[in-house]
Amino acid sequence: MTGDDDNDAGGRGAVLAADFRSVFGREPEALWAAPGRINLIGEHTDYNDGFALPFALPHLLTVAAAPTGDDTLTIRSRQADGTLDTTAPELAPGTVRGWAAYPAGVVWDLVRAGHPVGGMEILVDSAVPLGAGLSSSAALTCAVTRATSDLYGLDLDPHATARTAQRAENDFVGMPCGIMDQLAVLLGIDQHALLVDARSLETTPVPLAPGEDDTEFLVIDTRAPHRLVTDEYAERRWTCEWAAVLLGVPALRDVDPTDLPGALAALPENRLRRRVRHVVTENARVLETVHLLRQGRTRAIGPLLTASHVSLRDDFEVSVPEVDTAVDALLTAGALGARITGGGFGGCVISLVESGTAPRCTAAVRDAFARRAFTPPTSFTPTPSPGARSLRE
Ligand code: ADP
Ligand code: MG
Repeated sequence: MTGDDDNDAGGRGAVLAADFRSVFGREPEALWAAPGRINLIGEHTDYNDGFALPFALPHLLTVAAAPTGDDTLTIRSRQADGTLDTTAPELAPGTVRGWAAYPAGVVWDLVRAGHPVGGMEILVDSAVPLGAGLSSSAALTCAVTRATSDLYGLDLDPHATARTAQRAENDFVGMPCGIMDQLAVLLGIDQHALLVDARSLETTPVPLAPGEDDTEFLVIDTRAPHRLVTDEYAERRWTCEWAAVLLGVPALRDVDPTDLPGALAALPENRLRRRVRHVVTENARVLETVHLLRQGRTRAIGPLLTASHVSLRDDFEVSVPEVDTAVDALLTAGALGARITGGGFGGCVISLVESGTAPRCTAAVRDAFARRAFTPPTSFTPTPSPGARSLRE
């Protein structure tokens, strides 16, 4: 996996503009970049109005765009086959299949909200791996929302941008994701994680300097194919919402950890109990992680990461054998903590390791994968990076 560092916005913008010229034969008017993200802890909590602690990555998805002067909408991606050729007023859920539904969903949402958005030519290019749990989808929808906002003078703030990007995914693509990915992608801060409160949409920076406390982060991309993600994800979400109804609370965020035994006793079946136990304990782990990081006690978050994984594996049931193999191999190799990151059913593992041991830990995962004949994994050391930005500046 490439770590596509972007400290050179001007240079990257020039390359993207040249690419746009070669595809569409004219100048782009908006150039935007949005990063992927890693979620350090707080999984499947956002749609329960809870807490998460993601940070933006150096890997960037870029969008170049120009208005067409009519309603014609043409979208291409360097990472995907096919061109979407349609018009903005024709868009409706179900009219666009595959990858182009993400950017088309953004245009649909903005038109539906009454914004004066017409046709565009859009070119997408990306160094965020697709479907690896690093939120290439939010990078795509957020970058397209930003570019459209620029072209049509919409002046959308980050929260409005995040909501449009989320609705594109929820209502047009059909993936009922929460709001954490979009906020991380838009508001990421260099050398910080963001404590996301998914109820208020407040994001609070938490310092996350690499090397602190003689530790470093290591990401393993298991390259396990995503299986049944949308259906399984939706089932988890509706189950949580049903549990909140049964418990008489607005959302599972409102179940205090000290009230958990009583809440579990009030639920009619074991599967519901396990789902609720994950969400309530995961929210508590996020807040404890933030508390420890603020004290500079980075090593102490290791067990919380691993506890999050066990909860996601056993109670929320969103892990897969490749991911569990990676987590087990990392811990056996001496990692301080490791967990699945992203919505699950494949994708990446984030781990905290002793400084200097990332190569040894990566080798241990490779060996374990080879023994089980899994596709060889890739790895990188993630650097907390800034969120979406214009490449014009
Ligand atoms: P993640 O967000 O973790 O990468 P998702 O399944 O949510 O995984 O989103 C991945 C989907 O987003 C891809 O299957 C594709 O439809 C779309 N996508 C992301 N990046 C691109 C890109 N560069 N070009 C075209 N489509 C993309
Ligand atoms: Mg996604």
